[in-house]
Amino acid sequence: MKDLEKFIRNVQDFPKKGIGFKDITTLLKEGPAFREAVHQMIEPFKNDGIQKIAGIESRGFILGGAMAYEMGIGFIPFRKPGKLPAAKIAESYALEYGTDSIEMHVDSVQKGERVLVVDDLLATGGTAAAACKLVEKLGGVVAGVSFLIELSFIPGREKLKGRKISVLIDYKSE
Ligand code: AMP
Repeated sequence: MKDLEKFIRNVQDFPKKGIGFKDITTLLKEGPAFREAVHQMIEPFKNDGIQKIAGIESRGFILGGAMAYEMGIGFIPFRKPGKLPAAKIAESYALEYGTDSIEMHVDSVQKGERVLVVDDLLATGGTAAAACKLVEKLGGVVAGVSFLIELSFIPGREKLKGRKISVLIDYKSE
């Protein structure tokens, strides 16, 4: 397993003071590292009968899109409010201050379909938990959740309790 962590750039105090932003653009621009990350994100789920990849806007589109292409299966976007054109459902989640929500087209998942939810990073887990709920509201089965990075000093995993989770890079402290 290659050390992917060295391709991640930590940008301190972005987008606001106190946040250590994990910038993945420095990994994406290196072909072999990008490819390796995509392969490793697929690996734990390759015998799980995954039928669709559902990626969270916007870095989940880059990783999830490549995963879906590699696996030869369809891709579904979870989008920020107001972006999807057709009939959709929404799920809200708590932020530090206030709430946010994500949306999904109602015809994106079929009943019983096995979906792998993908994002670049697990922090509080609010976004990924909302994404999983949307899939389940439509009758889909969340077969797993795949992240490139986890900030395990934040207890976000608890929001995904009982789900199969894969993470490639774990930051144990800030
Ligand atoms: P959360 O809902 O708190 O798990 O936040 C996850 C979402 O926020 C992901 O889509 C990430 O891209 C983004 N995010 C949260 N914290 C960071 C961070 N420190 N660095 C980069 N992205 C982050």
